[in-house]
Amino acid sequence: MKLLLIEDEHRLADALSYLLKKSGYDTDIASDGETGIEMALTGIYDIIILDRMLPKLDGISILQEFRHEGFATPVLFLTAKDTLKDRVQGLDAGADDYLVKPFSSEELLARLRALSRRKNKELVSAKITIPEMMFDPLRGEVTKENEIIQLSVKESLLLELLMSNLGQVITKERIFEKIWGYYSGTEIANVDLYIHYLRKKLNTTSIRTVRGVGYFFEDKQYVS
Ligand code: CA
Repeated sequence: MKLLLIEDEHRLADALSYLLKKSGYDTDIASDGETGIEMALTGIYDIIILDRMLPKLDGISILQEFRHEGFATPVLFLTAKDTLKDRVQGLDAGADDYLVKPFSSEELLARLRALSRRKNKELVSAKITIPEMMFDPLRGEVTKENEIIQLSVKESLLLELLMSNLGQVITKERIFEKIWGYYSGTEIANVDLYIHYLRKKLNTTSIRTVRGVGYFFEDKQYVS
């Protein structure tokens, strides 16, 4: 799960980011509204946590623009004041849920679990089973020949991307954007490195290279 946190209070953002990472969410932070909308519009995030009061562009405007651009990504709206008007405004603008500050970390995590369950129903992240192995993206675990292999967060995101597009080539750029993001300050060569890690960890030849283009996970059903 890749998460974007748009929050300008640095202390809160740091504390949340620590909590979220510890809970297995791959988290990026934007600390003003303009950066936030720019990052959100890359479309690489699975859930967005959005603060209402932000410098440069407020949360409601971000949400409206994001929805206007056609993104259905779940958004958890953070509001400081618990007035009915605020909550209604947030939900009307397209938020899926809201949380009133200050909130407990348990409550935040519970809300996120609910949002990801909703998202997972629509998209992937259910267990993916193929003859070779069974992959549980939520736990980051692969079961192969009765052995359980634990993946890192990035490895798990990568495998999820490949296995939910069996037989389809995914470009290196797309993988990089989806897993690291252009704001990560990392190199695109990470893609090759993590493909290498995955092949080794899973001891598989099903992850195939298309030279100069990208990678795909072989769909053995269609291979004679
Ligand atoms: Ca704020």
